[in-house]
Amino acid sequence: MQIHGIPALVGTYDNYIWVLSKGKDAWVVDPGESQQVLDFLKENQLQLRAILVTHRHFDHVDGIAAIKNAYPDATVFGPEKTPVAIIEKRLKEGDRVQLNPDYYLNVLDTPGHTEDHISFYNQRDLFCGDTIFTAGCGRILGGTVEEFADSLLKLRDLPDDLNIYCGHEYTIDNLKFAQLVEEQNPDLQQRVEEVQINYPSILSTPQSTLGLEKKTNPFLRFDVASVADQLRELGADDTPAELFKALRNWKDRYDRAN
Ligand SMILES: [Zn+2]
Repeated sequence: MQIHGIPALVGTYDNYIWVLSKGKDAWVVDPGESQQVLDFLKENQLQLRAILVTHRHFDHVDGIAAIKNAYPDATVFGPEKTPVAIIEKRLKEGDRVQLNPDYYLNVLDTPGHTEDHISFYNQRDLFCGDTIFTAGCGRILGGTVEEFADSLLKLRDLPDDLNIYCGHEYTIDNLKFAQLVEEQNPDLQQRVEEVQINYPSILSTPQSTLGLEKKTNPFLRFDVASVADQLRELGADDTPAELFKALRNWKDRYDRAN
């Protein structure tokens, strides 16, 4: 299975639309726009089999209608709890989507960014929408801090070698905040140096693994001593929800000031 990142809403939201392809078949994840997806499918003579959606936000779903119009046989999969009407097959944790005989995706409920958010994963890949970003995480826009903390910990339990395919390209800004949180983390320092050499942007599709995120993403480390100690100073108690909330609030203040 090949996975290709197509930039969308460049310069505003900097989304990734992910296209999976094998032979002449293709599947698309979170099409917030349509034209570049349709162009890609046509240029590569691909037949779209399905559209998969992680959550209800417009920058992940607004391209569906036009794509479905061009490929009426493609099935639209999305969260069970979503208000998005165009979803045909509704998914919840424990479900599995078999894309072809060799490639399936398991469904995890990962609410917190929104109340309806799901993620897809198998033994190689993780499509986590706006739950985990490279070196960061989504904002709370409908879910609760408790849900979000649980979802991050749930994803953290998956294997280190999973490739991460997230909804947006915010690596550079996220790494700046991560350094503020964990100045002394050697893995983070190394990641920052590598990023400075191999500058990621929405047009260059950087790769990350869950293992790298576990070592360097503060939002997968809010209960690790070097991060948690600072969050306690900000008033958090030791529950995952309180620690996550203090970190998310810190990042929101940082974003407003920068
Ligand atoms: Zn979103």
